[in-house]
Amino acid sequence: MKKLALISFLLISACATTSPAPSVERMYVIDCGENRTNDVSRWTPGVNVGKPGAFSNHCYLIRHARGWMLWDTGNPDRLAALPNGLTNPAGTITAFMRKPLAESLKEIGVAPGDIQHFAMSHSHGDHSGNANLFAASTLYMQGAEHDAVFGAEPQKYNFIAANFEKLRGAKTVKLNGDHDVFGDGSVVIKPTPGHTPGHQSLLVRLPKTGPVLLSGDMVHLMYSWNNRVVPSFNFDVAQSGRTIDQMKAYVEKTGARLWINHDREQSASIPKSPAYVE
Ligand SMILES: [Zn+2]
Repeated sequence: MKKLALISFLLISACATTSPAPSVERMYVIDCGENRTNDVSRWTPGVNVGKPGAFSNHCYLIRHARGWMLWDTGNPDRLAALPNGLTNPAGTITAFMRKPLAESLKEIGVAPGDIQHFAMSHSHGDHSGNANLFAASTLYMQGAEHDAVFGAEPQKYNFIAANFEKLRGAKTVKLNGDHDVFGDGSVVIKPTPGHTPGHQSLLVRLPKTGPVLLSGDMVHLMYSWNNRVVPSFNFDVAQSGRTIDQMKAYVEKTGARLWINHDREQSASIPKSPAYVE
């Protein structure tokens, strides 16, 4: 009897020490527009001077065993009606949206109201273009970003107040640091300030691909990551550099790959919605 008890104890402990299956099931990388410029050096000071270029732009829809989470909302869906895109007043960037996010979600079979968890890397127009669609979701935002967006002078941070008008009353979790969205370590919001006051990145533990860190605009290109280069228009350039150092240590510790939202070259190697990554 004692022996049997011992064996079952050993069996139970063996099960308990086996790491639990990752509870993220899959992630859709959604094409959420493109941004073209006539001078890439704005993002890579000192190099690519006068060189035109294009940046990819993505939204990410995560299927977890306990619900859906959306990360970033891309360029505004209304740009789909403008074949020549929309150029900013400074003339430095032209934004395009080929397929509205609402349409991409429909193709996957998800309505905005099905998405319980919603966060953006930060609040610039190419990430918050469709934020108002998700007013029924729980919004996760760093407190510093929230203060800037909903404070008296959002334009001071290059935020467009209209992009957030429906989110003022949304259920909001204000963060001041890491946040484990589903409580199992599979989806973790990481503060990565510098580009904006409360910029954040997202660690997603995919069941087959392994851990992936979604950059937001912590860096814009693989070049920027490798050379610790950030735009001079960042909210805090020195802080941006320290964030890169911290995230380099973090990806080393976790073994995560960095997926850079705006790096078109890297993006070409990642399957796009309605296909998904596991
Ligand atoms: Zn961006």
